[in-house]
Amino acid sequence: MPLDILTGPLGIGLAAVLGLLVGSFLNVVIHRLPIMLERRWAAECAEMHPATTPSTLPGSGLGAPAAAAQAPALNLVTPRSRCPACGAGIAWYHNIPLLSYALLRGKCSACSAPIGLRYPLVELLTGLGFAYVMHLHGPGWPVLAWMGFVAAVLALAFIDWDTTLLPDDITLPLLWAGLLAAALGWSGLALEVSLWGAVVGYVSLWSIYWAFKLLTGKEGMGYGDFKLFAALGAWLGWQALIPILLLASLLGAVVGLAMKYSSGLREGGYVPFGPFLAFGALLALVLGPDTLLGWVGL
Ligand SMILES: [Zn+2]
Repeated sequence: MPLDILTGPLGIGLAAVLGLLVGSFLNVVIHRLPIMLERRWAAECAEMHPATTPSTLPGSGLGAPAAAAQAPALNLVTPRSRCPACGAGIAWYHNIPLLSYALLRGKCSACSAPIGLRYPLVELLTGLGFAYVMHLHGPGWPVLAWMGFVAAVLALAFIDWDTTLLPDDITLPLLWAGLLAAALGWSGLALEVSLWGAVVGYVSLWSIYWAFKLLTGKEGMGYGDFKLFAALGAWLGWQALIPILLLASLLGAVVGLAMKYSSGLREGGYVPFGPFLAFGALLALVLGPDTLLGWVGL
């Protein structure tokens, strides 16, 4: 087998490097996908309610959808990455994961504005995640599937933290991929366990949402949380969902209180739940669900 050479430290090292590169791309996804979705929604709104939206933008002479189409193209590939402070393009040699951040000492090479610690953090987490799943599975299809899982879960966690959105564009493919990975024997779950994981994941949070809403009149989470939890069930099996939910609730409560007392809460006092579900899922992946159950005394 030519892949045998990738078993052991070499494979794990290469997986880590691949993870750093993918993490660098995830930074782009985390920043741009919410903006792309917002533009798409604005364009759809304008098409559906032409009477209630201004038919022309001031001075442009264009209908709103046309104006949206004329806005500078933004997708996951174009334009090239720029410094958010000074707008200078980022050269490839200043865009090397982790290394560039360290060499530039966390500052833009053009204007010296500080670069968020977030960027190397996302790269590092992805690199560690990829190395870990390579350590678990060795080279082959399963490791590629789990790399996809790690990347999607990390992207969702950070997007939800920033915007309180869990885009369907990631949660739904992640759910289908989990069922497919089980069917193909790549995730190591029986298809039945994966399927029930998806069902239990969705229905459990849906029930909690409605019970909470009927009792308090408030919305404790959003539909994106149900879809994410269903996807986690499809990948990790229904047995993993209880420890993930308990851990996520506990962490969410602690972080929420800490933010309340440090007055770091955003408008409306809303703490997104997705990042904690994601964190619980990655812990379940690393430690196994049984260890998490042990922590919460079950
Ligand atoms: Zn700059």
